[in-house]
Amino acid sequence: MDEAGFLALARPGLRTLRPYDPGLDLVALRRRHPGLVELGSNENALGCSPAARAAAQAALEQVHRYPDPSGGALKSALASALGVGSEQLMLGNGSHELLMMLAQAFAGPGDEVLASRFGFAVYGLAAQASGARFVQAPALPARHAMPLGHDLDALAAAVGPDTRLLYLANPNNPTGTWFPRAALEGLLAALPPRLLVVVDEAYHEYCTDPALQSAVGLLPRFPNLVVTRTFSKAHGLAGLRLGYLVAAPGLVAVMERLRESFNANGPALAAAGAALADTAHLAWVREANAAAREALSGALKARGLAVSPSQCNFLLVGFGRDAGAIEAGLVARGVVPRPMAGYGLPDCLRLTVGTPQDNQRLLQALDEAMA
Ligand SMILES: *Cc1c(COP(=O)(O)O)cnc(C)c1O
Repeated sequence: MDEAGFLALARPGLRTLRPYDPGLDLVALRRRHPGLVELGSNENALGCSPAARAAAQAALEQVHRYPDPSGGALKSALASALGVGSEQLMLGNGSHELLMMLAQAFAGPGDEVLASRFGFAVYGLAAQASGARFVQAPALPARHAMPLGHDLDALAAAVGPDTRLLYLANPNNPTGTWFPRAALEGLLAALPPRLLVVVDEAYHEYCTDPALQSAVGLLPRFPNLVVTRTFSKAHGLAGLRLGYLVAAPGLVAVMERLRESFNANGPALAAAGAALADTAHLAWVREANAAAREALSGALKARGLAVSPSQCNFLLVGFGRDAGAIEAGLVARGVVPRPMAGYGLPDCLRLTVGTPQDNQRLLQALDEAMA
């Protein structure tokens, strides 16, 4: 039996679901280009805390043992850092797993899951995998062909009687856009309390705009709020897969029924604890990224390109024409961007902010590719 045959046996939601697109084939590209500049996946170019790497290495001594099934030590450390209770936390194999599980737990056939256009691709996958219908509210109107952020009013207007979950990222990937906490507060106050609102803060630790405060502080007022975070981005632990969510204790208790045993592995738990404790490393990453982001954005704008404002470690760049040839030109020169056609933005590429040397190589490759 081929894929179509098995698909006929699968749950109907899977028929329209396309697997997550991880971008260009890095394994092949690394073979072809030694010293490849990888700017396609928003990884931390500065690396993780050395203490986190050492903790992961030490934890390898115990790989024959199952890890702590509840991740208790990391949860207490997170709880004190965030000012919440441990029972408000759930750990995931990356926050991707938690985003998927939220839809598994709270949506299904006949339900709707809502997100904004140009929201993170995983939200649609989560909705479809659960069997729910995925609905996208329009984004704010584009300016200079660049998408602006989530339209919170449009999201509120798109909520219907069957809407179970609303996913939104602050700041958002791939647009880099963000909204202030007061705007989120207004949205939450306007929504029915039975609707779960998932605020994905994957890039929170990179943010430097004081208006961009975490939604965690709104949890006491809005029990329908869920905040997700990850160690994959500013903490530089993408390879170890560790994310977490913060929510009402009752919601966490329901989610625990679905959680796979030992979903957070030992080296990841150890590294995340050490990364959390190394506040100096994180502060350095935030500042160095902000400076490199500013410099790269300026250099791209000086070349006449449209660049979205960003609070993240990436920039969405508009070329005013189909970016396919520029993408190919960058790849041919050993620089990996993230194509955006899958998001309906064929004129754009998303570029992770690298080290100053990475960014130099990017700009040189870009100049050649655009010549
Ligand atoms: C990278 C990213 C994530 C998830 O990353 P994990 O590695 O699964 O924790 C979640 N949301 C957004 C918006 C992201 O960009």
